[in-house]
Amino acid sequence: MDRTSHIGEKPKLIDQFGRQITYLRLSVTDRCDLRCVYCMKARPEFLPKADLLSLEELTVLCDAFIARGVTKIRLTGGEPLVRKDILTLIDNLGARIGCAGLKELCLTTNATQLPRYAMRLAEAGIKRLNVSLDTLDPEVFSLLTRGGKVEQTLAGIAAAKAAGLHVKINAVAMKNRNDTHLPDLIRWAHGEGHDVSLIEVMPVGDVGADRSTQFVSLLDMRRQFEAFWTLTDLADDTGGPSRYVQVKETGGRLGFISPLTGNFCAGCNRVRMTCTGELFMCLGQNGSVDLRRALREGGPGEVDRLLDLAMATKPLQHEFDVTPGAKTAVARNMARTGG
Ligand code: SAM
Ligand code: SF4
Repeated sequence: MDRTSHIGEKPKLIDQFGRQITYLRLSVTDRCDLRCVYCMKARPEFLPKADLLSLEELTVLCDAFIARGVTKIRLTGGEPLVRKDILTLIDNLGARIGCAGLKELCLTTNATQLPRYAMRLAEAGIKRLNVSLDTLDPEVFSLLTRGGKVEQTLAGIAAAKAAGLHVKINAVAMKNRNDTHLPDLIRWAHGEGHDVSLIEVMPVGDVGADRSTQFVSLLDMRRQFEAFWTLTDLADDTGGPSRYVQVKETGGRLGFISPLTGNFCAGCNRVRMTCTGELFMCLGQNGSVDLRRALREGGPGEVDRLLDLAMATKPLQHEFDVTPGAKTAVARNMARTGG
């Protein structure tokens, strides 16, 4: 494989299995204004604020990734829009779109802060948002988020639409919680012009529940949908893990993110960095490198050296197990690694 295309250009990030890394997910904070039952405990321990990288340091590290061929950066968390002065980072990275190799900056959010931020995100160059919404039912939403208000999320989605942002709704399928609500959520979202992706719950982090009590197979859900909808597989490649179908009756696109029933690791093009500069090569494995130390003690050359080390150690795939009594794949929760 050609690892450089121009003289003087830095080598691309290609892992030990020949997969090129073009997508960085950056968790800018592990804090959040909701407490989703599949994501974190009711009283989580957050990373010490003193350990956080500054927004300027995050920008420098993003530049290091862009120089090595990363073309897409997703800001996530925790809730990215609760990080203080987050617009500084968004403006910095937005200014890199279209030059320096960055093609897209996007965001995953619970939408609670969007009434305040949507227009500014659009001005900064963001075009697409993933918004997490698991149900339209206020009581079930409150149960799943431990106290969230669905009206607030819906107001955020409306603000994003008004700002011209393309919204994709992400919903985690939860056994006996929201699984029977999903057809209504999909009909509503498609009616509003939003794509939807359903996600299988993953055993990352201790959330105080056996994951087998939460897990629903999306293969089974798809079969249930086929009893009343006509689903046609689409070849769309969004660069993410969703496999899309067109729903004839609603006229919208529906994605299935099925890490358990349809492992997608062979085409993995991403890595994840925490707000403290830990770079994880896989959501479901423990291997990491410390980019904060590399940046602060060694500078850009050391950051590049650790990126090469990361590529040599990126595992082939996760080993998630949601059978009753199975151990959690990794101790850190989704908010820390960045979903
Ligand atoms: N707070 C933002 C949000 O909820 O959109 C961004 C961070 S959140 C960790 C990113 C995504 O991870 C959300 O779509 C959420 O539903 C999903 N998620 C969290 N924990 C999960 C788990 N254990 N299994 C599957 N998806 C999970
Ligand atoms: Fe917060 Fe997102 Fe995790 Fe829910 S899924 S607790 S909104 S970080």
